[in-house]
Amino acid sequence: MESLIQRLFGRRTFLKTSLYATLGSTLYASAGLVAAQNKSDGLSTLLNVGRSPLALPPLPFAMDALAPTISSSTLGVHYGKHHKAYFDTIAKLTAGSPLADASLEEIIAHSYADPKLATLFNNAAQAWNHNFYWKSLSASAQQPSGMLKEMIERDFGSVDHLHSELAAIALSQFGSGWAWLVVDQGKLKVVKTSNADLPFIHGQRPLLTIDVWEHAYYLDYQNRRADYVAAVLSKQINWEFAAENLHRA
Ligand code: MN
Repeated sequence: MESLIQRLFGRRTFLKTSLYATLGSTLYASAGLVAAQNKSDGLSTLLNVGRSPLALPPLPFAMDALAPTISSSTLGVHYGKHHKAYFDTIAKLTAGSPLADASLEEIIAHSYADPKLATLFNNAAQAWNHNFYWKSLSASAQQPSGMLKEMIERDFGSVDHLHSELAAIALSQFGSGWAWLVVDQGKLKVVKTSNADLPFIHGQRPLLTIDVWEHAYYLDYQNRRADYVAAVLSKQINWEFAAENLHRA
């Protein structure tokens, strides 16, 4: 069995090599930054958040499947323009470098702590967050079951109370960002992140997310973020996807 150390250091060697080759050693001259990069990459590996290609994935449902909660016009712009633009920018930023063959997760882990790579991080993290958001949504209403339901009842008291906590954290995010259900040290938690920030870089395993950038709801709800969040929570959460994330080893 692959050891923890092997998992942490195998990936690190490859990425460090490719990044040095691509961007020059000055980017990682600080010992502190190297440590932060390696820690982040190790976390993405250990949390098994996947190796996503640098290409816009197909939507997992039809463009009108979430209406009226999320209209086809919102999805058309959100997926077809915003999400696509993040991948287009990544392609421009990585063209001709070994990073063009890296995964989204590797790029996120290695750009996270470096202010010089902020544009790359923001676009890669937003690409990842939207990949995850579409999978967090379901065309038909679902309820959590099995181990996930037991964990929700253990950590939140009830599914209804989790809904309230998720709604509250989604509303409390000031400006653009994301509301998440995560596993943090074995416990379910609701957390929010600003702009492109995302939980796996902080060692939290994401189970589902709700986009609370205005572009996610403004065409359908204008400034009524609460109504958008309530409709998504009651009708469109893909609890099967959340449970799959729980079981990723
Ligand atoms: Mn969005």
